[in-house]
Amino acid sequence: MPTIKNNFDEINQQIVDTALSCGRKPDTIQLIAVSKRKSVETILEGIKAGAKHFGENYIQEAIEKIDIIGKKTASWHFIGHLQSNKAKFAVKYFDYIHTVDTLKLAKAIDKQAKKIDKIQKIFVQVNISEEETKSGTNTEDTIQLAEQIISFENLSLQGLMCMPPYFSDPEKARIYFKQLGHIKERIIALKLDNVSMEHLSMGMSNDFKVAIEEGSTMVRVGTSIFGRRD
Ligand SMILES: *Cc1c(COP(=O)(O)O)cnc(C)c1O
Repeated sequence: MPTIKNNFDEINQQIVDTALSCGRKPDTIQLIAVSKRKSVETILEGIKAGAKHFGENYIQEAIEKIDIIGKKTASWHFIGHLQSNKAKFAVKYFDYIHTVDTLKLAKAIDKQAKKIDKIQKIFVQVNISEEETKSGTNTEDTIQLAEQIISFENLSLQGLMCMPPYFSDPEKARIYFKQLGHIKERIIALKLDNVSMEHLSMGMSNDFKVAIEEGSTMVRVGTSIFGRRD
């Protein structure tokens, strides 16, 4: 049985190899270890293995784990669907929120961040495949939302996030990753104040190599590090 350490090292090696093979600097890609539905013990094993960034999907579950593990040894990324009425907790516990997809949610996060004098790093989540059941903005709304977000003093827009449909052949996800990159370029071309837009949060266990080839700077990998979720 491979350990978490073996898996983590293996994924890191694959990130380095993929980056080099497409002419990118490996250190421009961050590995987010997705620890949803995994125990505190498992996360601590991940930290020991060298993981520094963790992704969580459910606020209540995350609060319980972060209260025990703390924020000094790890940075925390919220990658699940966020309801506006939970914005307070997301702001208190998470360094990054990847899933901002409405103006209402952006407003709620800004308000809560203001209260604790924090500049909250956020991503706009794009429903890149335009599936009706999925969270995220569509392409045109993404650009509008980015323009609106700059007026919020306590939000810092880091980039865009997407989650294409699952394909057993990861090549099929490439077109979606490419599209996310194009939207990012369109936003950069607007030269908005205080918008760095340096990040693309894309790629999971199954498709992170293709995502890196298409410019991902944050890959979110769960299963390949921690094993299957119950
Ligand atoms: C669960 C999840 C992941 C990780 O998926 P794996 O296939 O386990 O690597 C990445 N991103 C989001 C948004 C997720 O919900």
